[in-house]
Amino acid sequence: MSRSTTSGPFTGGCACGAVRYRCDGEVEFAFHCHCRKCQRATGGGHASIFAVQRDETEISGEIKYYEQGSDNGAKTYTGFCPTCGSPLISKTARFPERLYWHVASLDDPSRFAPKFVVYEESAHAWDYIDPALSGPSK
Ligand SMILES: [Zn+2]
Ligand SMILES: [Zn+2]
Repeated sequence: MSRSTTSGPFTGGCACGAVRYRCDGEVEFAFHCHCRKCQRATGGGHASIFAVQRDETEISGEIKYYEQGSDNGAKTYTGFCPTCGSPLISKTARFPERLYWHVASLDDPSRFAPKFVVYEESAHAWDYIDPALSGPSK
């Protein structure tokens, strides 16, 4: 039986296990982001992210955040485990009620079902983009 791609609980954490989380709500949306910030934060061609409500999420352990500017002027914050460095989460001052998790942090990343791609214009030729997800940024 495959588990739902949109309904919680979703559990996950960092590579060393110091940070753990559990989201009991619905996934609001899931996508790939090819912006340069995500490339640098993940070390790959893009970030694969799912968004949930902060008040439906429990986090244990310390997440360290660094601040980054954003195209629309709202500050964004990228969170990682200070022990193992795993990229975990992004937040934006524009939608403070929302948490954007990096999908590799999930205990079962196969539940990720991306619906669109953003910052496709920053994507590299070597990074595959599913034509079904391609198109103007939402
Ligand atoms: Zn860790
Ligand atoms: Zn990005």
